[in-house]
Amino acid sequence: MSDRYAVIGNPIEQSKSPLIHTAFAQVMGQVIHYTKLLAPLDGFAAAVDAFRASGGRGMNVTAPFKLDAFAYATDLAPSAQMAGAVNAMKFEGDKVYAENFDGVGLVRDVVHNLQCPLKGRRVLILGAGGATRGALLPLLAEHPAELVIVNRTVAKAQELAALAQQHQSGQVPVVGLGYEAVQGVFDVVLNASSSSLSAELPPLPASVFRPGCLAYDLTYGKGLTPFLKLAQQAGVTHLADGVGMLAEQAAEAFAWWRGVRPDTAAVIQKLTVPLV
Ligand code: NDP
Repeated sequence: MSDRYAVIGNPIEQSKSPLIHTAFAQVMGQVIHYTKLLAPLDGFAAAVDAFRASGGRGMNVTAPFKLDAFAYATDLAPSAQMAGAVNAMKFEGDKVYAENFDGVGLVRDVVHNLQCPLKGRRVLILGAGGATRGALLPLLAEHPAELVIVNRTVAKAQELAALAQQHQSGQVPVVGLGYEAVQGVFDVVLNASSSSLSAELPPLPASVFRPGCLAYDLTYGKGLTPFLKLAQQAGVTHLADGVGMLAEQAAEAFAWWRGVRPDTAAVIQKLTVPLV
């Protein structure tokens, strides 16, 4: 019998994880069975219990259950502790190992796939939700010159900046600001707000984009979002969405479960929606 994995969420129909993991397994010659699991909003633990009891080996976790998974896990990796949320679990006996690969997936996409080194660069990240929180340590590990977090609710940006500062000894300056206080130009501008899900434009001045910079929207599959359009109108030619991040976090989970890391290029190509 093949090893069983699933992605759990509510809703779950939209999830690309089965397609991605099935493609990875085929290329890597691994025999796995990967499905979507719709859990009731108040039924996360019961659904995971049942999946484990039936022999399930691991799960990806998507909205709205990333905090439930954090509470359910017995062993939280530093990435999950820092993010305060879990996006992948591995089951071994009574143990539930938990990780959060979103941040490392983002950084790998930017640095490796898009060939945009972060070392010594000024990085601006929009939003102060779960995606930004999970990205803090992987971003800082690349030693940018500065990391600026900007958010509508300024206190949340300041909280995350303080958290980031606690986890390093001050080598990288990290500040949290409101949009009206952003100054200067940036080499990398990451939209980790959820503005693109509702086709809204964050109140960002177009002057933040340095010529030659990368503008990256973590939302994927939406084409040219209002954020990417703003960047394009400001003269930015290096535009990307979060499809590569999605594929890279999946590859991390696959490697963690199966011991082999698949290449992501084919999956990224298959899932890419043109930025027009
Ligand atoms: P959260 O709900 O945790 O946080 C949302 C953030 O967006 C908050 O900081 C909120 O600001 C801000 N926001 C919402 N609407 C607007 C707006 N119109 N203008 C400016 N700011 C806004 O979301 P997540 O952090 O979990 O996710 C953020 C994005 O990242 C989503 O689009 C998600 O799809 C994407 N993502 C992509 C992944 C990938 O693999 N590519 C993985 C994970 C996330 P405030 O605090 O003021 O309300």
